[in-house]
Amino acid sequence: MRHRIAVVGGGPAGLAFARVLHRHAYPVTVLERDPAPDARPPGGTLDLQEGLGQLALDKAGLLAEFRALSRPEGQAMRILDTDGSVLRDWRPRPDDRAHPEIDRGQLRDLLLGPLDIRWGRHVTQVVPGGREGVRVHFADGRQETFDLVVGADGAWSRVRPAVSPVTPRYTGVTFVETSLDDVDTRHPDLARLIGDGSLAVYGVNRAVVAQRNSGGHVKVYAQFRAPLDWHTDLDLEDAEAVRSSLLALFAGWAAPVLDLLRHGTAFAHRPLYVLPVPHTWPHVSGVTLLGDAAHLMPPLGAGANLAMLEGAELAESIATGPGDLDMAVRAFEEQMWERAERWARLTMAGLERLVSPDPAQALAVFDQVQPS
Ligand SMILES: Cc1cc2nc3c(=O)[nH]c(=O)nc-3n(C[C@H](O)[C@H](O)[C@H](O)COP(=O)(O)OP(=O)(O)OC[C@H]3O[C@@H](n4cnc5c(N)ncnc54)[C@H](O)[C@@H]3O)c2cc1C
Repeated sequence: MRHRIAVVGGGPAGLAFARVLHRHAYPVTVLERDPAPDARPPGGTLDLQEGLGQLALDKAGLLAEFRALSRPEGQAMRILDTDGSVLRDWRPRPDDRAHPEIDRGQLRDLLLGPLDIRWGRHVTQVVPGGREGVRVHFADGRQETFDLVVGADGAWSRVRPAVSPVTPRYTGVTFVETSLDDVDTRHPDLARLIGDGSLAVYGVNRAVVAQRNSGGHVKVYAQFRAPLDWHTDLDLEDAEAVRSSLLALFAGWAAPVLDLLRHGTAFAHRPLYVLPVPHTWPHVSGVTLLGDAAHLMPPLGAGANLAMLEGAELAESIATGPGDLDMAVRAFEEQMWERAERWARLTMAGLERLVSPDPAQALAVFDQVQPS
């Protein structure tokens, strides 16, 4: 029997879920708030790990296409001291496919493929327990009913309240994101400094990280510990004011590192929030969560990977299981909670050490995970 299944959100979690169902010729409705795929900038680069994001792509039949698009050289990582001296410089072997990088926009297009997305469908509430099924309410006043509603709608999920009362809390760390375009031509010195992958500089309670995307685009993240209202005297829409405030915050750091902020174009404010760990809920028939909606954690290379693998696993168990939707979802939730708790603890501990009063802690984090 084919159930009426909807997934709310067309991010990595929702698209991986829909794409694996599609591979099994199982119908699914994707409800996405954005009016079109290119309605907003897709965001920075993602590294997809073997056994996580890459496994999800394999389940979707997309691993070969991913390999053709991704950038194994993007696994390179250089760490500088705040005076500009090089502390570490890791380069991947040519055959290293452990966690190649891919632009988010490329990943989204790869997953979208033949999927039929309902764009511009802003879900406001999900109400389980009805005789006709789970009711989905939209911002335009319309309603629809499904047998299963999967919340893959990110940090500020509108599906989550149907299963759990928790809300994200601020970690005490804020990122301000900026970017450089056409870096190889316009800023060749910075291009050389960044290399093929990422550059990170760790100071006391702050860091600057630059990540190369494809096409000479670089995302730069100024990271620092601050109260949530650190910007009360600052107009976040005023790029020059934000730039000056960041240059003051990182005063005394090496000139090329500050140039990453000096040459940045627009600035986006991204305070980091997390969900409590562990985050579980008494099973609710007809509703579940995937990805950031279920386990928002610090952005240390796991969130999109887990989101995609969860989407692929839930889809596979629905499409290939014996047909009991509730049993498939219950089994999936147990597996997701256990794995997500492990990663949430790891990434929380990682954030504490990466943006910490002792920069040597940050170096130690990398020394533990990088081959010597
Ligand atoms: C700076 C930064 C760097 C990161 N780097 C990495 C990395 O290298 N590797 C990694 O694995 N992870 C990384 N992450 C984490 C990763 O971005 C997230 O974990 C991942 O995007 C979660 O995917 P998702 O599909 O659960 O949610 P999202 O990506 O947030 O997608 C949610 C989707 O739901 C839609 N939506 C939201 N609300 C509604 C609604 N009410 N109705 C309908 N649709 C709705 C949104 O428009 C969006 O399309 C990074 C995060 C940040 C901030």
